[in-house]
Amino acid sequence: MTIKALITGGAGFIGSHVVDLLVSENIEVTVLDNFSTGRLSNLNHIKSKITIHQCDIRTDDNLDLYLKDVDWVIHLAALADIVPSIQNPKEYYSVNVNGTFRLLEACVKSNISKFIYAASSSCYGIPEIFPTPETAKINPQYPYALTKRLGEELVMHWSKVYKVPSISLRFFNVYGPRSRTSGTYGAVFGVFLAQKLAKKPFTVVGDGSQTRDFTFVTDVAKGILKAAKSNYSNKIYNLGSGKTVSINYLIELLKGKKVNIPKRPGEPEITFANISKIQRELNWEPTISIEEGVNLIIKNIDYWKNAPVWTPNKIKAETKDWFKFLDKNN
Ligand code: UDP
Repeated sequence: MTIKALITGGAGFIGSHVVDLLVSENIEVTVLDNFSTGRLSNLNHIKSKITIHQCDIRTDDNLDLYLKDVDWVIHLAALADIVPSIQNPKEYYSVNVNGTFRLLEACVKSNISKFIYAASSSCYGIPEIFPTPETAKINPQYPYALTKRLGEELVMHWSKVYKVPSISLRFFNVYGPRSRTSGTYGAVFGVFLAQKLAKKPFTVVGDGSQTRDFTFVTDVAKGILKAAKSNYSNKIYNLGSGKTVSINYLIELLKGKKVNIPKRPGEPEITFANISKIQRELNWEPTISIEEGVNLIIKNIDYWKNAPVWTPNKIKAETKDWFKFLDKNN
């Protein structure tokens, strides 16, 4: 029997890669997306093979209908990015928490076999243990991190109480082709790639010695598939590369000039996933090294040609509230 998967946020950066992988596995895919940040163009190459509904999970009355006969729900619809979450926490709460709640409620009435939740490594805040295991202290530093964590708590609670069989995957700095570029100052790859195309210097936060666990998006998609296929539920896994690389090294790979901008409050020096649990229980392994990943992304760099180009002054203006609210010295 063909497996049926419903992917919320399926037109987004990670979602569209999950769609690609599931379709290649002959899984019947339905995408729900409100296209606030997702793009139909991310699915253009595959749209004849899937069903797409424009739908806002906060308000749509047809969730029960979309869930009919569905086996897997892969819940990726969310608002990302730190700055707008500080400026507009209500919107983040509404999408990331209420949206998740509504979807879970609909799942209780359906007969799904697996719910996969996209959680964020930002739940660890400024970690104290490296590599960081799932059992590390939870300490969100800003509303985006908090709302993704609250969503995860809902999912785990609904898994336990209402028996919606769920797995939460805590993503670490996902990057790759189609990483979202919108009007907001967001994840570093989108910022750097637009700067590279415009031949502007890379804006390096602090001295660039901070490190991140950058995880290639197709590896993330494979992790999601493994989790969906597994017999486990009510589980949380880190989904990261299990390595950590400095921003200075990233710039060596991307090649170009740099300019330094102030360190940002609430940011960890290191993110570094302990991935032994997902390796052991789901038999998942990251396969794309940072060097390979950067090469693959550079091959697709035209995707970023209309993306906003951030300069130190624009970043200073955009991150005003970040410094205002999060800086402990204020
Ligand atoms: N970063 C940077 N310049 C920028 C944006 C980000 O050097 O213009 C650095 C940032 O300090 C962090 C890393 O890139 O160490 C990843 O930042 P991002 O905002 O993508 O993710 P997060 O900080 O949430 O891990």
